[in-house]
Amino acid sequence: MSLIAITEVRKRFGDNEVLKGINLDVAAGEVIAIIGKSGSGKSTLLRCINGLETIDEGTILVAGAQLAPDELHLRALRLKVGMIFQSFNLFPHLTAGRNVMLSPMVVKKVPAKEAQAEAQARLEQVGLGHKFDAYPDELSGGQQQRVAIARALAMKPLALLCDEITSALDPELVNEVLQVVGKLAAEGMTLLMVTHEMRFAREVCDRVVFMHQGRVHEIGPPEEVFGAPKTLELQQFLGIA
Ligand code: ADP
Ligand code: MG
Repeated sequence: MSLIAITEVRKRFGDNEVLKGINLDVAAGEVIAIIGKSGSGKSTLLRCINGLETIDEGTILVAGAQLAPDELHLRALRLKVGMIFQSFNLFPHLTAGRNVMLSPMVVKKVPAKEAQAEAQARLEQVGLGHKFDAYPDELSGGQQQRVAIARALAMKPLALLCDEITSALDPELVNEVLQVVGKLAAEGMTLLMVTHEMRFAREVCDRVVFMHQGRVHEIGPPEEVFGAPKTLELQQFLGIA
């Protein structure tokens, strides 16, 4: 069974149909890169999967449970899939550790002591075990993004959605974040990531989705999508047509 099953999903903003019948099944442990031009619907698709946007048609099942457009279900869904954005959005007045502890305590009512141990473990997982007491402005952009990853992991998500999480970083900080993502992939985390890092996608991802004008235009293993793109649109996107 798929961990995430997306069937004929349509999403409109006013007259603008942004997702035009998306079908995508994601197996547990699968790592998928989503590529495509700006405006092709990549972010909207991720936002629909974790319930930040409601869908107009179709279904999204996460671990077999259907996403219904009411508040309770959306909250339940957001507990199941974590999302990380281009901007790290850490609370500046809280330490790294406190940032990671917050959601488990507030949303899941995890006792402080347990949340603290979990936060320490998640910070260690992203290589920042020694930064529990550091404030965001004492950390580099790459370190802040790794704290944001730890914060998502602390909620024990079934899958992680990453939306261009290295795009705001200085080039020299990109690799430390990609390395953490690669490690999560190796540990079996299910990952959907919108990315411009083609080399990373080629090396780490099981499948690559090329979105074009609100549709999955091509999908396949990286060696096919990058090595033998079938459509002119993908060839143009990759700069080989
Ligand atoms: P991508 O992530 O591939 O660049 P997006 O999913 O962000 O694409 O956007 C796809 C289209 O949806 C764009 O035309 C964008 O302007 C539109 N769009 C996205 N979010 C909204 C919104 N909240 N309201 C209106 N239009 C939106
Ligand atoms: Mg986007």
